[in-house]
Amino acid sequence: MGKALIIGAGGVASVVVHKCCQNPDVFEEICIASRTVSKCEDLKNKLAGGRTIIHTAQLDADNTDEVIELIKSFGPDVVINVALPYQDLTIMDACLATGVHYVDTANYEPLDTPKFEYKWQWAYKEKFEKAGITALLGSGFDPGVTGVFTAYAQKHYFDEIHTIDIVDANAGDHGYAFATNFNPEINIREITAKGRYFENGEWIETEPLSEKKVYDLPEIGPKDIYLLYHEELESLAVNIKGVKKIRFWMTFSQNYLNHLNVLQNVGMTSIEPIIYEGKEIVPLQFLKAILPDPASLGPRTKGKTNIGCIIQGTKDGKPKTYYVYNVCVHEECYAEVGSQAISYTTGVPAMIGAMLIIKGIWKKPGVYNVEEFDPDPFMEALNKHGLPWQEDFSPTLLD
Ligand code: NDP
Repeated sequence: MGKALIIGAGGVASVVVHKCCQNPDVFEEICIASRTVSKCEDLKNKLAGGRTIIHTAQLDADNTDEVIELIKSFGPDVVINVALPYQDLTIMDACLATGVHYVDTANYEPLDTPKFEYKWQWAYKEKFEKAGITALLGSGFDPGVTGVFTAYAQKHYFDEIHTIDIVDANAGDHGYAFATNFNPEINIREITAKGRYFENGEWIETEPLSEKKVYDLPEIGPKDIYLLYHEELESLAVNIKGVKKIRFWMTFSQNYLNHLNVLQNVGMTSIEPIIYEGKEIVPLQFLKAILPDPASLGPRTKGKTNIGCIIQGTKDGKPKTYYVYNVCVHEECYAEVGSQAISYTTGVPAMIGAMLIIKGIWKKPGVYNVEEFDPDPFMEALNKHGLPWQEDFSPTLLD
């Protein structure tokens, strides 16, 4: 039925590749293209022999012309960008030049300033409309499934949504003193940035990790959760009409925070280049090089994740509350695709977004966030492809 070009060959890409190969009726052919081609070859060797035909290519996705050339020679229906946020715009430019649909899991960030904003990608809306192609932004778990959960709540349970609290908990243990569950550079940039949430039409800024609560999560138990800014807050504030308050919370262990504090205090998380033995290096990029590769955490990580949305609003003039969440087990993800649950919960929705585009179910010219489409086919696909969700109509609320 379709062909997908998958850019990137890291933790998330590995899950996307596995999931595409599990659905050969939709993904007849894929090409895995990344900076380090040996990683693409390793993935191909693991999965060869199934019905999906796998190609590989060496690609520097910072170079639009290289991406255009590869798209022209492979001829995909859709490009799944699971490289890094820095490559979003060059890949979108290449999709525009070749008339191919685009899917990603993280908003564009300039390399020198951690700025979590959709403005650069939303600026492509008219160009994508004119070219008759779809760009689906943020089709991971958060952003991604959290937007679909919210759209589903809006469609089926609420007349008005007033408050959304997204809670992302990882109770997994990988046994290392300190490691990040996805790309360390992107992860640490996100966590060390100022917190921000939306209330009554305004953005309220908080000091990094300064707002903490305890929340008792289904199947995981009580955890410390910290307020962070997360990119889906921006699109949900625009797309969920009438919403008054949106916050994002993430769990961190005290051990993780102690390590992060020390690393920050000694300047290891800085993105300002320094000269070391005559060579310019960026401390955070050096730190990434010495931390465990997230793709290697799979066999060591035990425990569960729980990510969901706690929503308050009204239905038929009466107050209503709703909690929708997915629980994922690290060991089960590893047994199925050789990855831990963070890569799994991101890679499955990326595959689903691309599948809905190839099938023509989620296809409209322009640039869209996931909550702007009909959530039902995506929710159905989550249950079918490894991320089943559960509902609670009287959850504990966050004050
Ligand atoms: P990894 O670092 O494991 O993988 C990134 C891959 O991209 C690597 O294979 C890397 O190549 C490749 N790459 C980097 N730069 C280029 C380039 N210029 N050209 C071609 N390939 C390049 O990251 P993850 O798999 O952990 O994360 C992938 C994406 O998923 C990130 O954007 C991250 O923000 C996003 N994400 C989204 C989540 C969500 O829920 N929405 C959750 C978690 C992650 P090389 O091997 O040479 O370094």
